[in-house]
Amino acid sequence: MDAPPHEAAASAARQEAARLTAMDVHGVALTYVDNAGITRVKAVPTARLAHAAQWGVGMSPVFDVYLSDDSAVTSAHIGGPDGDLRLFPDLGRLTVLAAQPGWAWAPADRFEQDGAPYAACQRGFARRMAERAARSGLGLRMGYETEWVVTHAAEAGGGADGPQDAARARRYAGPGPAYGMTRVIGLSGYVRDVLKALADQDVEVLQIHPEYSPGQFEISTAPSDPVAAADEVVLVRETIRAVSAHHGLHATFAPVVEHGAVGNGAHLHLSLRKDGGNLFRGGDGPLGMTRTGEAFLAGVLRALPALLAVTSPHPAGYLRLAPSMWAGVFQCWGPENREAALRFIPGPAREPQAANAEIKCIDATANPYLVAGAVIAAGLDGIDRKDTLPPPVSGDPAVTRAAVPRLPAGLPEALEHFRGSALLREALGDALYEAFLAVREGEQARLRHHGPEALVADLRHHY
Ligand code: GLU
Ligand code: MG
Repeated sequence: MDAPPHEAAASAARQEAARLTAMDVHGVALTYVDNAGITRVKAVPTARLAHAAQWGVGMSPVFDVYLSDDSAVTSAHIGGPDGDLRLFPDLGRLTVLAAQPGWAWAPADRFEQDGAPYAACQRGFARRMAERAARSGLGLRMGYETEWVVTHAAEAGGGADGPQDAARARRYAGPGPAYGMTRVIGLSGYVRDVLKALADQDVEVLQIHPEYSPGQFEISTAPSDPVAAADEVVLVRETIRAVSAHHGLHATFAPVVEHGAVGNGAHLHLSLRKDGGNLFRGGDGPLGMTRTGEAFLAGVLRALPALLAVTSPHPAGYLRLAPSMWAGVFQCWGPENREAALRFIPGPAREPQAANAEIKCIDATANPYLVAGAVIAAGLDGIDRKDTLPPPVSGDPAVTRAAVPRLPAGLPEALEHFRGSALLREALGDALYEAFLAVREGEQARLRHHGPEALVADLRHHY
């Protein structure tokens, strides 16, 4: 997006506003995702959309140092009561919300008041990294999986006597076994309405299924470019939340909903493209990848301990990151290995475009724009270094006892790697790097005395 004021955008927005008004849409939610992984919003009446497109909507930068409980910390460049930013809707993504009648949504880009791009804009960061890849002729296709747990809304808030009581009181919706049809029958209208709302919003769903834990479901969507994929996971989550509310249900995307049970992941599937071809296929590298494809994945694999601070940034996420839960806690890769942090999916031989890699050690407390950008930066670094992959790993390293490094088992350890990562500091830029780090450190300090049950309870209400 160029510097404001955006005259052309304003004239497009006027047309869009007329279309929305004719559809009885009265409010447009402009969202961005902060460094705590929370989707924050400023909404405008439809009649004000053109003004917002031309001049932006004001919002304090302090939200970039908000923790998930809405307390604020400070950082080297961002913090305190001063200053204001302008939020600009991306009209290319303007979507009428099927599950929120009368509402539309657009993700926002953030600029300084003088029109300069805001250095700590997470969406801008994802775009910057995608452009960095494009300068080498590389394109990325990305798609997030969304896992969530559905409970009956009355129990969702938890019991009055603290987290233990809340756990006892919780009643999962959609009873029945893991991956069982029973659960789809029990919540037939709900699952249909999720699919219908997403279809109405032109989100291409690949599949939906009940997951392993009680009340758990998963949906996956078709790949798109990195920024669009991050936009889409925001839209998918908020749509699921809204459909759930209509059904008297509560959806949580928190990495852990019940301590000890399999949690919610937000796995990222990606493939690397050049001249329309998939670089994970048709080469002389491991399992038929090209050497560039291999180097990209090797760069991601190398950076995983530091990346984990971005992909699993909440202290409670480390309760999910346990071996033998398919959460990917080992720093290794393997074909179709669901215990490897990096699962390689060769795809059918006759479908070369299908080959992709899945990064599993990601959860929904992560900002999807930061994840996309950080992963691209790590992959491009692997290409620069001509990194090669170690031998693939099969089986669960926790069972086979293969000598495979374990990823950081807690946020403090991941943060040590993050602090030592010149790669991520350079890619994010100082303002965003420092603000993100301050938020992670603040969250860790806030929750350091919480036991597992209290950590899980804290999380469930916020994501
Ligand atoms: N729920 C698992 C996780 O926490 C993932 C299950 C799957 O592989 O889809 O990441
Ligand atoms: Mg799953």
